[in-house]
Amino acid sequence: MLSRRNFIQKSVLAGVGLYTAPKSLLTNLNEQIVMTVKGPIRPRDMQFTLTHEHVLADFIGAEKYSRDRYKVDEVYARALPFLQDVKNKGCVTFIDCSPAYLGRDVQLLKRLADSTKLHIITNTGYYGAVNERFLPKHVYTESARQLADRWIAEWTDGVEGTGIKPGFIKTSVDQAPLTVAQRKIIEAAALTHLATGLTIAVHTDNGEAANEQLRILADNGVAPSARIWVHAQKEQNMAFHIDAAKRKSWVSYDGVNPRSIKDDVTFLQRMKANGLLNQVLVSQDSGWYNVGEPNGGNYRDYLTIFTLLIPSLKRNGFSSRDIHTLFVENPANAFSIQVRKL
Ligand SMILES: [Zn+2]
Repeated sequence: MLSRRNFIQKSVLAGVGLYTAPKSLLTNLNEQIVMTVKGPIRPRDMQFTLTHEHVLADFIGAEKYSRDRYKVDEVYARALPFLQDVKNKGCVTFIDCSPAYLGRDVQLLKRLADSTKLHIITNTGYYGAVNERFLPKHVYTESARQLADRWIAEWTDGVEGTGIKPGFIKTSVDQAPLTVAQRKIIEAAALTHLATGLTIAVHTDNGEAANEQLRILADNGVAPSARIWVHAQKEQNMAFHIDAAKRKSWVSYDGVNPRSIKDDVTFLQRMKANGLLNQVLVSQDSGWYNVGEPNGGNYRDYLTIFTLLIPSLKRNGFSSRDIHTLFVENPANAFSIQVRKL
């Protein structure tokens, strides 16, 4: 039997519960989030998404990297019409994959998001490929845990004091076997994932390197579904792609350009025939203002998927449903923020 005091307390709590439960359920359980440079959105608000593009890149290397090397107003003016064009084609979310020390400028991205109304997503993490020339020195003296703590702090507090948060982890490695530093940043990515739920996109040069990443993630208790195999098209042996996708890793064909359409369609047909289209991402690795070249050099547009790839897919038996899976559903699933444990 309830005492009167207990009864009152429970009634009050029940009353509060009844009143607040639907709201808290909505924000905590029903809806995961995706993090843009302007704050969180719901995964379903991403809609048509380009998952791997660039606005700005500077290949000078971590040693000499500096924001003084470019005029941000010039970059903004150069990039803006390209982003407006792709927005007009139906792109709603644009994921910028330039990492720290290679062209990540989150305030520039925020400004472009404000102007274009695109959802723009940026990243945390370091780029270990190209013989580690884009890795800052502290990678060699700090542990994976210390590197992860730097990246987790960007998630918690924002990047470089801006309050702008990353929406995923971007790292990269060369071909297998990975170097000590490359293994360390993959481990740091795993630790960051466990603390934040941010998905890990790894620029990868071959299938063996992709597998080595999954072993490092597994050693740290992270599931393959937390990993995007970026540049999977660099590995011509599709047995690697199929195996990774069967293990629920994301496989990203992200080099779409006017000369790659035939190969892209072949990759996608094979994945479709294997029932694996729901593990695939497609993007262009296009753009960007290249620091050091006059007015950023040859900026490639973001339109090929719209003007060439999708029409070609339709001619090759891909349904509107398939296109929706590739460009709407899969990006929403891949970039929704959740810890994916083994
Ligand atoms: Zn890229």
